Amino acid sequence: MISEMDFHTDTGRPCLDLAATLGDRFGSPLERLPDPAALENWFASVAGKPLGRPVTQPELDEARALRDSIGRIADRLYDGEMPDAEDVDRINRYAAIFPPPPRLTPDGRGVSQSDDWSLDAILGEVARDAIDLLSGPDFARVKRCEAEDCSVLFVDYSRPGKRRWCSMTRCGNRAKKRTYNARNRTTGG
Ligand SMILES: [Zn+2]
Repeated sequence: MISEMDFHTDTGRPCLDLAATLGDRFGSPLERLPDPAALENWFASVAGKPLGRPVTQPELDEARALRDSIGRIADRLYDGEMPDAEDVDRINRYAAIFPPPPRLTPDGRGVSQSDDWSLDAILGEVARDAIDLLSGPDFARVKRCEAEDCSVLFVDYSRPGKRRWCSMTRCGNRAKKRTYNARNRTTGG
């Protein structure tokens, strides 16, 4: 069983997975990063980059601010509106934080990639993904989940381009159940 607090992992992009940690943005927002431990969990299980130390409350606040900027800009562009300069600045600030550098091995022939990611570097990676998505051709495939109480944005990479739900196991399933119940009611079943 999937819980509504579970992280989204199938929006198609890391930046939208992060944005989706705030659910139902236009209704009663659902905070899926309620505490620092939840962000630690997101880094390990969704971003695939365990931080290896506890997240602090100020770090959680900053991660949420970046998350909200990404969500807000994506919503604005999706609705054909201009983004706030403050949100653009925040994403640009994070995008300038680079990942751990590759290191040449002692024999000079190989590369070792450090897995020593700082919190800011993980968020930097997400910010660069946001820049790539918002400014690139894939943004034309972005859709908002059709469930009224969801608001999650995802990229419809399916070939027919008819995806309607953030996830079949979440909103897709609920819609299927509603259709089923409605049909049973109208046929008196
Ligand atoms: Zn949904």
